[in-house]
Amino acid sequence: MEQLSTSRYSSALIALIPTIGERQEVFAAASRLDLGAGFCDGLPFNNAMADIKDKWADNIAGKFYVDQQCIDCDLCRETAPDFFKRSDDGGYSYVYKQPTEQADIDKCMEALEGCPVEAIGNDGDEGK
Ligand code: SF4
Repeated sequence: MEQLSTSRYSSALIALIPTIGERQEVFAAASRLDLGAGFCDGLPFNNAMADIKDKWADNIAGKFYVDQQCIDCDLCRETAPDFFKRSDDGGYSYVYKQPTEQADIDKCMEALEGCPVEAIGNDGDEGK
């Protein structure tokens, strides 16, 4: 419940940044700041690796998944719309189709690397 409310709060902040490029600039600048341990907890710039134990149940089984750190910034859905979808009820992204072709895997990896809060994992096969 706490993570869900944080996600909605963060989504509102992110929505104030009008373009994807500007969002990426803000995320990059925030990640360069040394604000001290814990300062960014609960904010959109809290980078921690995706954890398969925290993945949303909506994710389809397979390699890629989104965990509960997602702040609904839309980057993955812009980057790889054939694989990432929004939960309108929850306000987060999830993987609805797993890539099989290398070009599609590359797209999902691009989304993973671009995620500002590292909410996308690629070790989903290990969780089967
Ligand atoms: S998974 Fe990452 S890139 Fe995708 S919407 Fe969530 S925070 Fe943004």
